[in-house]
Amino acid sequence: MKTPSDRTRLIAGATQRGRGRRPVNPPVERASTMLSDRADQMRDESLGPVYGLAGTTAARELRTALAGLEGAAESWIVPSGLAAVTVPLLAVARPGDEIIASDAVYGPSRRFLSRWMTARGVSVRFHAAEASAEEVAGLIGETTRAVLIESPASLTMDMLDAPALAAAARAKGVISIMDNTWGAGLAFKPLRHGVDISVQAVTKYAAGHSDLLMGAIATNDAALGRAIDGTIEDVGWHVSPDDAWLALRGLRTLPLRMTEQARSALEITTWLGQQPEVARVLYPPLPSDPGHALWARDYSGAASLFGLEMKGGTTEAGRAFLDALSLFGLGYSWGGYESLATHETHQMAYRQSPARLAGELLRFHVGLEDPADLIADLDIGLAAWRKALKA
Ligand SMILES: *Cc1c(COP(=O)(O)O)cnc(C)c1O
Repeated sequence: MKTPSDRTRLIAGATQRGRGRRPVNPPVERASTMLSDRADQMRDESLGPVYGLAGTTAARELRTALAGLEGAAESWIVPSGLAAVTVPLLAVARPGDEIIASDAVYGPSRRFLSRWMTARGVSVRFHAAEASAEEVAGLIGETTRAVLIESPASLTMDMLDAPALAAAARAKGVISIMDNTWGAGLAFKPLRHGVDISVQAVTKYAAGHSDLLMGAIATNDAALGRAIDGTIEDVGWHVSPDDAWLALRGLRTLPLRMTEQARSALEITTWLGQQPEVARVLYPPLPSDPGHALWARDYSGAASLFGLEMKGGTTEAGRAFLDALSLFGLGYSWGGYESLATHETHQMAYRQSPARLAGELLRFHVGLEDPADLIADLDIGLAAWRKALKA
């Protein structure tokens, strides 16, 4: 039999034989204390977790499913996507080390690097959002310990050549960590492309219903795995059984949701790109996007998150656009079944070299609604934008 695809494997994990009479989905087991029959069994991990902190059945099944998705020997879950970024950095960086990351990296990841890491003797260097893999590799020095790759980068969706950068880092003995939240372990497989540690916010597509926060970390490197495992143990992170159960439930339908949402996003971004008010649609699957060639080479799919760079405009016009929408929720995060919109121009302020934008920057997440209805809603938003600029 041919190797089943992700879509099949994520479900086959539930129906696997040989596990006795049981429900399709694991029970939610809430536990701190785990009881043993005999004193000599109390520390025997082959009989199951000896303490709730290690996670009960749903958490273990989720970790197995995520490891399979990432093509990893092992995966770990932590209480947020941000923790999935910070744990590997905590695991590998020592005082005197340097970390390299993009100027366009996810804001809270940047804050952790700039505030927590630098206060503890780790220096941080940010490279230009548009840098090539060679340019980033050129920054690697004697003290560089890790490169944090986020592609496409938050808000401006700049693509990095992750395979080339990971290879250059490895050649110099530097660890590569990729925040693959946009790829969700499905559209892009960091470990298969030579990245050492793959992380993602399960909060987004994997969970898929905007009702929990979680992060996942995966690696095939045994030593890095031990360091990650030890760090999670040291800092005491734990994921609740309810959240693990919900994330596992979400994961079964990840391929269907993400594929459908990406199909809608392509239709909507293509339409938006033809509107006279729009300067640029920031979305690598579009042939007009500067990152399109890298996306087409390495990705088997896409997220449904994109930026909309307007021609000029004002904060008020940006707000009028969002306020006129009735099918897009106004809220942060993404990857759920619902469409969302945010106004992001101000976020450029923390960058060393803010992106040169032609105007206001809006961000949209396309959900599972009918794309024709979403386009009609965006058309109303554009009318409100024009009206606000005339007033
Ligand atoms: C949302 C996000 C995170 C953090 O996830 P949370 O679960 O909200 O902490 C990390 N990286 C990227 C790229 C994200 O979009």
